[in-house]
Amino acid sequence: MTFDLILTGGQLLDGTGTPAVSADIGIVGERIEAIGNLSRAQARRVLPLRGLAVAPGFIDTHTHSEGVLLHDPQHACGLRQGITTEIVGLDGMSWAPLSPPNFRLYAGYLGGILGDPPCEMDTGSIAAVRAHYHRKVAVNLAWLVPHGAIRLEILGFRDLPLRGEALRAAGRMVRQGIEQGAVGFSTGAAYYPGYWADTRELVEVCRAVREAGGVYVNEPRVGTPERAFGGGGILEGLEIARQSGAPIHFAHLRTTEETAGRLKELTDPIDRSKDQGVDCTMDIYPYPSGSSIAISFLPGEMQEGGTDAILERLAEPGWRRALRDHLENRLFAPLDPVTFSYLPRNSHLEGKTLAEAARLRETSPAQTLCDLLLEEELRVGYVNAPPAIPALREAIDRDCLHLLARPDAMACSDITPLGSAPHPRCYGAFPRFLGRLRRQFGTLSLETMVQRMTDGPARRFGLTGRGRLQPGYFADLVVFDPDTVTDTATYEDPRQFPVGIHWVVVNGQVAVEGGRCTGVLAGQAVP
Ligand SMILES: [Zn+2]
Repeated sequence: MTFDLILTGGQLLDGTGTPAVSADIGIVGERIEAIGNLSRAQARRVLPLRGLAVAPGFIDTHTHSEGVLLHDPQHACGLRQGITTEIVGLDGMSWAPLSPPNFRLYAGYLGGILGDPPCEMDTGSIAAVRAHYHRKVAVNLAWLVPHGAIRLEILGFRDLPLRGEALRAAGRMVRQGIEQGAVGFSTGAAYYPGYWADTRELVEVCRAVREAGGVYVNEPRVGTPERAFGGGGILEGLEIARQSGAPIHFAHLRTTEETAGRLKELTDPIDRSKDQGVDCTMDIYPYPSGSSIAISFLPGEMQEGGTDAILERLAEPGWRRALRDHLENRLFAPLDPVTFSYLPRNSHLEGKTLAEAARLRETSPAQTLCDLLLEEELRVGYVNAPPAIPALREAIDRDCLHLLARPDAMACSDITPLGSAPHPRCYGAFPRFLGRLRRQFGTLSLETMVQRMTDGPARRFGLTGRGRLQPGYFADLVVFDPDTVTDTATYEDPRQFPVGIHWVVVNGQVAVEGGRCTGVLAGQAVP
């Protein structure tokens, strides 16, 4: 037999967490054909690895790349981290299943995180949206059915609970999405229209998730405690899982400036629920602050009707006064750390804080935010500045690794790649875990770290044939130097590629060679 590609002399980390072994990997087509001593085998191409580590391509359980991939299918910021599969449709926010009018409405609403998709795109079903990417982008994509789209289709952009037939219809839509290849269902922390739901609605929808064999991905709710069991957060998610029987996966758990060093407050309720039979996993990204869209700062009464209705209100003096008051006095999250990442019509303000932008415009921060949402037609993305105190950043980093040490934890990036000043995680999340933090803290072995990025997520989300180096598995591979691999992206200079990742193979095709993207677009809709 002649192999298409043989990687020789690598240290193989097979993804399961077992110790590395020296062996060659032979690939035929898109799959691994053999692992062992292949020194006598014939191959069209041989890559000598000279002791570098080889792992299954990384599986990123949380990204928002579906928007940017339509314009930039090469996706170097993800691919060069060693990521070969991304789960999208997160936080209840994505475009399918949606009818054409609802797609236009929701695409406008989500422009700050997903950018502007082509308006003729067919998003009528999970099957249709998967087809837009299959073999057209550099990474494999797995989809979640987003809560926002389901609510929009059934009810419009309205503050009403789903009940009765509407709720049964929501369950049917989620079930159908999973039958068409989605790996589960997602809800967000504070994003409309999904945010209008109460716990009872989510329990019912998650019954359908369980029946269809999917996973419920929950970004713990903040605010609106009156709608949520236990006031929201992890407690609500665990209760939904307990009542519905659906497996739950918490999106990017981490400690913050306020909770650094108190990881147990997050994990104790999870462990108590797991003792009682709840099936729970989680993911985490290695940074002390996050990123989001400014549209979620608007109060619920301003959100009714969606994009066009919101823009009309933003232009109306009475509504603007009410919004300024809300931003200044009643917000659940402070505005001080807001640093703009994406402002397509005011790109000179990208990278500036809200306070700096307000000074430049000689007005207040709240007024500036109102003005920018209107000028940008809601397309405002921001990054929260990290804590200023280095010891606090380090404490959060330590918490990240403690959490990732749990066998039920996985690595993620939460890539939100729009604009000139994105979050550094878009370029650095996986190498930061794999190199910098692993070496700095010494608490996780390389094998365990790799398991959290490969086999762990593949098993959890049913990504058949991925996540391990094993004959018969898809040839998604990453070759790196364990001693030098690290992130270089920072909050100050975020668009910097990592170092120490030499080769990436996607479905048997060399997608990164000597640290450079080859232009190959071999990504598939998975599983
Ligand atoms: Zn997210």
